[in-house]
Amino acid sequence: MPGGDLHLANVRTADGARTEIVVKAGRIAALGTDADGAGATRIDGNDDLVLPALVDSHLHLDKSMVGLPWHPHAAGPDRTSRIETEKRIRDNLPLSVATRAGNLIERLVVHGTGHCRTHVDVDPELGLSSIEGVLEARERYRDAVTVQIVAFPQSGVLACPGTIEVMEAALGAGADLLGGIDPAGIDGDIDGQLDLIFTLAEKHDVGIDIHLHDGGETGATEVAAIVERTKAHGMQGRVAISHGFCLGDIAECDADRLIAAMAETGVTNVTHAPGGSSIPPVKKMHEAGVAIAAGNDGIRDSWCPYGDGDMLERAMLIGWRSNFRTDPDLELAHHFASQGGADLIGISDYGLEVGNRADFFTIPTETVAEAVVRYPQRSLVVHGGRIVARNGLYEGTA
Ligand SMILES: [Zn+2]
Repeated sequence: MPGGDLHLANVRTADGARTEIVVKAGRIAALGTDADGAGATRIDGNDDLVLPALVDSHLHLDKSMVGLPWHPHAAGPDRTSRIETEKRIRDNLPLSVATRAGNLIERLVVHGTGHCRTHVDVDPELGLSSIEGVLEARERYRDAVTVQIVAFPQSGVLACPGTIEVMEAALGAGADLLGGIDPAGIDGDIDGQLDLIFTLAEKHDVGIDIHLHDGGETGATEVAAIVERTKAHGMQGRVAISHGFCLGDIAECDADRLIAAMAETGVTNVTHAPGGSSIPPVKKMHEAGVAIAAGNDGIRDSWCPYGDGDMLERAMLIGWRSNFRTDPDLELAHHFASQGGADLIGISDYGLEVGNRADFFTIPTETVAEAVVRYPQRSLVVHGGRIVARNGLYEGTA
């Protein structure tokens, strides 16, 4: 893998300014037209735009069938059918979790994603097997991407007895956060699931990221309960609600109250611009002070046949579903797929500034807005100061 000092010349930043970037020891050592790249390997950026690494804040690396022959979508139209279908096929897939996760990671990397958060299934039947597979992939690709792991109770917590014990074991094995899923819709007990998860999170001092598909008033009750427990457990800024479809389908005055409470408590919303459900009003939420991040969610798995791991394409879908048309709105969609995710995952030295991690990519577009709309192939991807992909081909380790 190409390493050593780099001097990226002839590129433009998001504000249109021409710049050069000098990378030393994995960090940005100099920026600007007079950056001194003496001794570094010079790369011509061909007048491309250079942007900080994309961040995918909601993935399922363990579920993806990327790298396998095409698998026709087999599940029915509801959540229960998707869970059951997945259980039926997951044990018979010809490639291991680690290999499939690695295949998807390589797709993320060629599209310029440098950091991601993945939910990984845990239940008494699986035990830690999927967690261990993703941990293996995380280690193998550690020089190409940052992977944060959520121990995810796909089949429920109370509805699937023994799961909370496996979730705790997952933290011991290397998972970073605890997940949750539809406390009402899956477990039928909002307080029961949330009490278990929040108590365990507090005990281990880890964050929480809860899948919330439940819509309407049920979903709204769950959002309020999550906000309330976030305060009660002193977890402000460490809790995320993934999806939160209800925020887009309840009365506006009710949504406004929940949005204000999320902003006050630092509860992030992670959206993927669902195809078949309401999308939360992400621009309004952002303006109200709610942290918003974005993720691809299922890619080529039992839940969803779509996707190739491109967060610019995902930003386009968020813009499309949110009726974004102006450049500032398209830049906001890009913000969710970049800085918003870095804030969620906790990448403190993120962005194109001297001293920060050298995680960036180049793309042949005039502006960020054009990059979101057209999302052409990334020319160069650098992670931790090393070239990890070029012209759509993975060049990292493993
Ligand atoms: Zn998900």
